Amino acid sequence: MVVVKLKPFNEILKILNDYIRITVIGCEIGSGRCMQGGLREAKELAQFLKNNGKEIVDVLTLGGTCIVEKVKKISFKDTDVIVSLACGAGTQVISEEINKPVITGVSTLFIGSDSHKEVFKEYCIACGDCIISTTGSICPIARCPKSLRYGPCGGAINKMCEVNNNTECVWFTIDKKLNDIGKYFSFPEIDFSDYSFSNHPRRFKNEL
Ligand code: SF4
Ligand code: SF4
Repeated sequence: MVVVKLKPFNEILKILNDYIRITVIGCEIGSGRCMQGGLREAKELAQFLKNNGKEIVDVLTLGGTCIVEKVKKISFKDTDVIVSLACGAGTQVISEEINKPVITGVSTLFIGSDSHKEVFKEYCIACGDCIISTTGSICPIARCPKSLRYGPCGGAINKMCEVNNNTECVWFTIDKKLNDIGKYFSFPEIDFSDYSFSNHPRRFKNEL
C-alpha cells in the first residue's frame, strides 16, 4: 500500500483561499487504510472547511482514486476546486481527467504496510527489478538506509544499523530469516542492478 500523511487542516485551508465551493475526495485503499485520507478523514476535513466559511459540494470516495474509469463518472460542475486525500498518483489521475483545480490534502510517504495500524513501515521503493526471492522476502534496498543490494556495509554495531541505531541491520534480519527457512544467501543469484528500470518517469505496458 501507499502510505500517506494528512496535512494539517489549517494548511489545507490556506491553499484554498481563492475558492469557495469544494469537493473532498478520500481514497479507501492506501489513505483509508492509513487512517489519513479515507472517507472518515474526508468528512472531518469537509466539516472543518465548512466551519471556516467554505461551501461543501460533495464528500465522497471512489474506493481507489487512481482508477481512471471511476474518476470519469463524477460530475464536478458545481465545484470550484477538488481536495484529494489520495496519494500523489491518485491525485494526479483526478487532475488529468478533470478540468478543474485539484489540490492535495496529504503528503505521500512511501510504499509500505503497518503493524496493527500503529506504525507504518517502508518495505519497497519500487526499484523495478525485484530481488526479494533471494533475500528471504526482505528488501535490503528499501530497508537499508544505503540501499545496499549485495550485502552489509560492515558498519553494523551489535547487529544494529550504523545509520539508524534503533533498527537491526537489515542484512542480519535477512540472514536470520534465511537460516530459519533453511536457505542461505548467495551473491551470484543477484544480477547487477539495471538502473534503466528506475528511470523516471517510468511506464509499463501490460502485454498479457
Ligand atoms: S527489490 Fe525493488 S521491487 Fe523488490 S521490494 Fe525491494 S525495492 Fe521493491
Ligand atoms: S548497517 Fe546494515 S542496514 Fe545499516 S547501512 Fe549498513 S548494511 Fe545498511
